[in-house]
Amino acid sequence: MAAKQVYFFGGGKAEGSAKMKELLGGKGANLAEMSRLGIPVPAGFTITTDVCTYFMKTGGKYPNGLKEKVNTALKKVEKIMGSRFGDPQNPLLFSVRSGARISMPGMMETILNIGLTSATIPGLIAKSGNERFVYDAYRRLIMMYSDVVMEKAAGIEPKEGKGIRQQLEHEMQKMKDAKGVKFDMELDAKDLKRLVDVFKKKVKQVLKKDFPNNPDDQLWGAISAVFRSWNGKRAKAYRRIENIPGDWGTAVNVQTMVFGNMGENSATGVAFTRDPATGENKFYGEFLVDAQGEDVVAGIRTPQAINKVSKSVTSKHLPSLEELMPKLYDQLAKTRTKLEKHYRDMQDVEFTIQDGKLYMLQTRVGKRNGLAAVRMAVEMRKEGLISEKEALLRVKPEQLDELLHPMLDPKAESKADKLAGGLPAGPGGGVGQIVFTADDAEAQAKQGKDIILVRDETSPEDVHGMRAAQAILTAKGGMTSHAALVARGWGKCCIVGCGALNINASKKVMSVNGKKLGEGDWISLNGTKGIVYDGKLGFLPADPEKNVHYKKLMSWADKRRKLGIRTNADNPHDAQTARKFGAEGIGLCRTEHMFFGPDRITAMRQMILVDDEAGRKKALKKLLPLQRKDFIGIFKAMNGLPVTIRTLDPPLHEFLPNDETSQKEMAEQMGVTVEAIKEKVQSLHEANPMLGHRGCRLGITYPEITAMQVQAIIEAACRVAKQGVKVHPEIMIPLVGTKAELENQRKVAVDTAEMVLQKNGVRIKYLVGTMIEIPRAALMADEVAQVAEFFSFGTNDLTQMTFGYSRDDAGKFLPHYLAKKILPADPFQTLDQEGVGQLVEMGIQRGRATRKDLKVGICGEHGGDPKSVEFCHRVGMNYVSCSPFRVPIARLAAAQAAVR
Ligand code: PEP
Ligand code: MG
Repeated sequence: MAAKQVYFFGGGKAEGSAKMKELLGGKGANLAEMSRLGIPVPAGFTITTDVCTYFMKTGGKYPNGLKEKVNTALKKVEKIMGSRFGDPQNPLLFSVRSGARISMPGMMETILNIGLTSATIPGLIAKSGNERFVYDAYRRLIMMYSDVVMEKAAGIEPKEGKGIRQQLEHEMQKMKDAKGVKFDMELDAKDLKRLVDVFKKKVKQVLKKDFPNNPDDQLWGAISAVFRSWNGKRAKAYRRIENIPGDWGTAVNVQTMVFGNMGENSATGVAFTRDPATGENKFYGEFLVDAQGEDVVAGIRTPQAINKVSKSVTSKHLPSLEELMPKLYDQLAKTRTKLEKHYRDMQDVEFTIQDGKLYMLQTRVGKRNGLAAVRMAVEMRKEGLISEKEALLRVKPEQLDELLHPMLDPKAESKADKLAGGLPAGPGGGVGQIVFTADDAEAQAKQGKDIILVRDETSPEDVHGMRAAQAILTAKGGMTSHAALVARGWGKCCIVGCGALNINASKKVMSVNGKKLGEGDWISLNGTKGIVYDGKLGFLPADPEKNVHYKKLMSWADKRRKLGIRTNADNPHDAQTARKFGAEGIGLCRTEHMFFGPDRITAMRQMILVDDEAGRKKALKKLLPLQRKDFIGIFKAMNGLPVTIRTLDPPLHEFLPNDETSQKEMAEQMGVTVEAIKEKVQSLHEANPMLGHRGCRLGITYPEITAMQVQAIIEAACRVAKQGVKVHPEIMIPLVGTKAELENQRKVAVDTAEMVLQKNGVRIKYLVGTMIEIPRAALMADEVAQVAEFFSFGTNDLTQMTFGYSRDDAGKFLPHYLAKKILPADPFQTLDQEGVGQLVEMGIQRGRATRKDLKVGICGEHGGDPKSVEFCHRVGMNYVSCSPFRVPIARLAAAQAAVR
């Protein structure tokens, strides 16, 4: 461990900097940086993430000498602030906050007002001249400290509703009720003084310990609790979802308290340097007069807007900071500009005004949804703040998904029953059944239900349920409450601050504007506008083409990427959708998907069930015109772009009639007995169909199937060519493991194609290539390439056969593998570059050793996964092919790979 474990900041100086996020956490690094920039930051120090790791490893010990280092830093802070920690006359108070490398909003702990004791209270009262404020600060300290340090960090798990914090809140409510008041602010100094005595007794009674009355005990209790909160339940859940390593640890920031709750001349707030919901270049934020930071994010009081543009449904009647404190607003707005210029990205800041003086408490890169990310990247480029390359890297490819997401159908919306309005915290539409707890949301979503999680407040403890839900709806909270931040980060539909909701979570019911709803009832949310509707409304697909910023960004991406982007599509509609999203061809048309239609399944079954070639040919004859029609539609939709069509791949038994009725029907159609059909079905059963009679093995045993398909492809090509449509058919043979297999199928394909072309008197260039999806084909790629005119990696099967995990059964054990970290990711989603990737690289090298210009692509699911796309770029593929909705994601991922 490095000798330096404590980094001081304050008074325009700092030992750390923004570059030291790994060691100081995001918050600590940025506090140091802001201090260096001369932005007013209350002095403090950061204890490194190294210390956290040590603390975790040793079961709660600190490295030797840490206490002395902390004391040295503390002395420096005291000198700058002109007051002393624990001093009865002139006491200094601290906040103790977590801060990991990556922001985990609300997932770890914070404790404020450390240093308030019976000895320092009178001093602070004398200094502030405000007794109410001091006792209010003290009651907050007791609430937070007893909850975080004395209960959670001590490993006490109270029953639902019986936590110390809730019990104290209950005491406070009792006092308000007795006094006949509604708001905390209505309790005066005397009330609060009495309340803290009640609190201390309650703490002793519930937790069997006195509330610590020594500043040092408080400080170290808080530091330990914050370190421990790294392994708290919600932090762990969040890390799992966000893929944050458990061994990073958090830093601890000990910082001088400044108070936003010192009266009407004080305030506290949070702001974004641009609108995080739309990306628009306007300063956006919320604040509360006479409050502490936790009041803004906890969503208990309705925050006010910092300026006119930030006003919302709930804050439009309240004065803004700009109106209330114009000079301070001006200073804040200038700080905004300074921070954006310096960091060259949208910042999420916390500020406090203490008795007319502005302090910045935090700055970090702000979370944003996909829509906003795209707009900010493009506009920042245009403003000259960042380069085009940076702009491309600013948007996570997965985030584009949100632009492609469905919205509530406006027609249905206009007729729908509007239940209530709230704040539009996460855009898009959400339709689902109500549940009232995060655990229920998770459990019911697992059953395949569409769930809307409805909560009173926005608690970070709900993170697993929020993840599982289609959308989130809360009665309280503002745009910057934890739930809003988290949902926005995920691009999830979310409405907060919907005040009309009256929720009784324990009875699983709620009423909203006179209407009663319970668990399981359907509601629909418009997260873009913040409207809640009764019932289940329809969706409309998104139309990113209407978004100018998206189009700009994608034009930059297309200019820079080296990879071609194709799509996996097997019908004209999907092909059309993919083209709209920018697909440059079809990389995989799975023909088996074409045989399930009601107009052809019988003919298909007949083809499989007959015993002789003549019978099979007869059935194939029926299928031929249908297939031809399919291909005509697809060729037309792709209008001149290459179309890779794969011959029949899956095991035959997938098409068989398995129930009595369809078996009878088939028997009648074919003029045989039901028994005969049953027997045949039985005989086609395979012990391991994934490794059985499928792929080219079918075409080799029944060449007439391949011949029919190729005839349909080339006839369709001739037909559209005659109509003036350009076609580039590419015939692809699946599941090839040896050169001889491919030779066999190539001959059938070429013979058929030439025959059709000759008959039609047309010359169309077509290719015959192969899937590389069996490990042996990758190993023998040099030989295979003697016959193949192109390769397309089928990484679904290649992953299956390299790992030996059945694609159909992996769902049973993969979740355990991921939970136990036996695998870093699901290899069927993100390509295993180390293992399967070797086969891919080898396949490309060996294939191109034989055929220098061999065209190589990928058509397994990985073709739409950003990390895997980067790999495909690196190993020199020509294109990736993915499902239509992932085409934009792949375009951007490919550009990022090229830029990186
Ligand atoms: C593959 O195996 O990767 C592939 C694209 O084919 P399928 O998923 O149809 O087996
Ligand atoms: Mg396959």
